[in-house]
Amino acid sequence: MGFTNEKKDRTNMFNQDKYMKGYRKRNRKQLNEERKLWTKLHPEKIKNYRHEDYLKHKEHIVEKSKAWKKTHGVYLAELRHKWRVKTLETLGGKCVRCGFDDVRALQIDHIKAGGAREIGGLSSIAYYKKVIQSFLNHEGKYQLLCANCNWIKRYENNEHLAPLKEVQ
Ligand SMILES: [Zn+2]
Repeated sequence: MGFTNEKKDRTNMFNQDKYMKGYRKRNRKQLNEERKLWTKLHPEKIKNYRHEDYLKHKEHIVEKSKAWKKTHGVYLAELRHKWRVKTLETLGGKCVRCGFDDVRALQIDHIKAGGAREIGGLSSIAYYKKVIQSFLNHEGKYQLLCANCNWIKRYENNEHLAPLKEVQ
């Protein structure tokens, strides 16, 4: 008796699987739309899932990322350079004090200082993106200074006397 029931259940399960497969195939478009809508309505959940996924595979992801960076060093350097130039151009392309415009000696200055602490944890490209966004939003946080003016500003603000900040 028990055997028959088990067999019956298995058959049902099999059929249900097959049925669901067919159902998904027939309604793929609608299901995709529903999934998209759900994703849109639950950004926090998606973020959590992604984060959980990241934590689960963290070691593997970090290893992979390290290996990728090793083989794409030149590419990354070029990308960083591209973003640096783009950022400098967005910020006016010249020192706001003296007008010096050679990008090789232009520096992004955090107007209210404390920049080093803020950079902590951001990759340089993410930092450039942040600077550009902030500048386009007229937040008044960043400006361009040439290396000379930047050092002079440090002396004027007595930053050269301040204890060294820990960069994270
Ligand atoms: Zn200058």
